[in-house]
Amino acid sequence: MGVTVESLIERDGPACVWCGRAPWRRDLTLEHVVPRARGGHLTPDNAVLACRRCNRRRGARPVDAVVRELLRDGADVRVATLRTALERLSASERRVHREAGRRQLERLESSVAGRRR
Ligand SMILES: [Zn+2]
Repeated sequence: MGVTVESLIERDGPACVWCGRAPWRRDLTLEHVVPRARGGHLTPDNAVLACRRCNRRRGARPVDAVVRELLRDGADVRVATLRTALERLSASERRVHREAGRRQLERLESSVAGRRR
């Protein structure tokens, strides 16, 4: 409902949250922060942009686990965008989003503790 790649480009910029690249428009996809497989819905508060490759690669893993792996690989993860997305989710009116958002935000903070970003 009202979630489009264009609206997210406007909100977050045209980059993939996982690798930081700004691919061609057709390669940007809507990424569920809380995956559908974990009860996430496609709402603006649960959506960010990811390139096709990263979206596939992420699967249904929690944000913090993917971020840890990508940082280890030296990827230019958009930590600030993901943090903002999780903060937004933490205030969601949907319980599934809210609880997952809070949990993952906490774990994200300990994953990136000490990093300047
Ligand atoms: Zn990517």
